[in-house]
Amino acid sequence: MEKILVAGAGIAGLGAALALSGGAREVIFLDRDPPPPDTSPEEAFTQWERRGATQLRHSHAFLGRLTSLIRDRYPDLMKELLAEGTRLFGFAEGLPPTLENKYTAEKGDEDLTLLFSRRTTLELVIRRYAAKLPGVRFITDAGVRGLITRREGGKLIVEGLKVERNGAVEEMRADVVIDATGRNTVFPEWMRAEGVAVREESSPCGILYFTRHYRLRDGQEEPPRDGVPGGGDLGYIKFGVFIADNRHFSVTLATPEIETEMRMAVMKPEVFDAVCMALPGAARWMNPERAEPVSAVYSMGSLQNVWRHYMKDGAPQVLNFFPLGDAAVRTNPLYGRGCSSGFVEAHILRETLDATADPAERAKMYEREFEKAIRPYFDSMVKLDLQAIRRAENERNPDYKPRLKARVMKSFADDGLMPAQRAHVSVSRAMSRIFHMLDEPTAFLKRPEIVARILATWATPKSVKEARDYYPPKMGPERDEMFARLNLAH
Ligand SMILES: Cc1cc2nc3c(=O)[nH]c(=O)nc-3n(C[C@H](O)[C@H](O)[C@H](O)COP(=O)(O)OP(=O)(O)OC[C@H]3O[C@@H](n4cnc5c(N)ncnc54)[C@H](O)[C@@H]3O)c2cc1C
Repeated sequence: MEKILVAGAGIAGLGAALALSGGAREVIFLDRDPPPPDTSPEEAFTQWERRGATQLRHSHAFLGRLTSLIRDRYPDLMKELLAEGTRLFGFAEGLPPTLENKYTAEKGDEDLTLLFSRRTTLELVIRRYAAKLPGVRFITDAGVRGLITRREGGKLIVEGLKVERNGAVEEMRADVVIDATGRNTVFPEWMRAEGVAVREESSPCGILYFTRHYRLRDGQEEPPRDGVPGGGDLGYIKFGVFIADNRHFSVTLATPEIETEMRMAVMKPEVFDAVCMALPGAARWMNPERAEPVSAVYSMGSLQNVWRHYMKDGAPQVLNFFPLGDAAVRTNPLYGRGCSSGFVEAHILRETLDATADPAERAKMYEREFEKAIRPYFDSMVKLDLQAIRRAENERNPDYKPRLKARVMKSFADDGLMPAQRAHVSVSRAMSRIFHMLDEPTAFLKRPEIVARILATWATPKSVKEARDYYPPKMGPERDEMFARLNLAH
């Protein structure tokens, strides 16, 4: 029986637990954090200490790619998630009023489904479910401290891990080792110390993340779905409302790194709430009559898009080792793709291990399939983040005059793409498939009927009443006005 050691039992580790379970393999998960409390989602949210996953209490969107994978492959797990108060939210439910009467269901729409859950609830339920799976064992309070390796034929062969438990370091051997230790993985350093040239692509996300959680007050309901978007990008700030389980929701504000005054200010709960109250899409949710705050403001920085390569010139340098989740690729949290990616990668790994027992073939196949599945999203995020960084810089420059190309791109987004999504179900569906990681980011450009609709919308002047109806309401004040309201220097 193949023995697998997985360092890290966060989201990607849990994906691996589901994918590699079944009893044909012995899979042991080592996590330095304590186990989840054997209790309710409420207590998990307030009590589960997870120093190893500091993003745990930030807003998390769980996209269709993840949701449909759980629904199709692990229906009992989906039942347990729903029984604990999480919710499914389908494509039709999210359509703006302009599209409600135009909608007819199409095959594939069922995959455009969000799972509304706090991350603590999702982890708690999956962990509980995974612990009962054949072949799976979790060891907690176990810090992975190093590799056990040997050299053969010019390659590094990974044979196990050094693990610290109760103050002592023990050696645990395995046929396969997986790094699922997340964004701050130390494995690349350990590998480099062993002579492996680990290459990193890295590009800034350019934002800082601020999240506060709220709960609907007794007797209050969610605001009506009347077309006011629950998220948006104002250049100097981005915001999003994340609906969760058991009448909880959170609001995230993302500030450009260069907006120093704003990012310092929103760490204060009263300023955070004041900013949200100035953004109609957030205010309607966290209005004090409707909801009460249930957490501090959590902040997070050092956000980077990072891709780590363990192959060199198409050849593996390390055998019996696979990076998974954020340890392999980190992406901008704003796109909500990290958890879906981790689950997809875990299932690619399962297919790889099933396909061949040859370590070099495994390394090559994993790399190939991983690239195919994740690379298009990564490249698109890197590009969009660099554009957003430039936009934020320009927002602060009173002398900035956009060039023709920038004006055309902005007009295409604001007067073409955006209203076309509110005018045509087909365009909304095409963009939703990208959002949910079911189609690659540029897929819509390869569909002439979608491009034609966007161009026709773009060509219709805003002065035409019908065209005007498809524009979303204003997302919030301009930068100067917001800064003045908050008494911030600008
Ligand atoms: C602010 C923020 C918001 C995000 N929002 C979203 C979102 O909306 N949707 C989405 O899909 N993704 C989101 N993400 C991304 C998502 O959180 C990650 O992609 C996901 O958690 C990656 O899973 P992972 O298992 O690789 O890492 P993690 O979930 O971070 O888990 C790593 C695990 O490894 C353990 N560990 C670390 N070091 C060791 C060690 N030496 N020994 C033993 N154990 C160790 C830790 O304790 C932890 O349990 C967000 C990320 C951030 C930063």
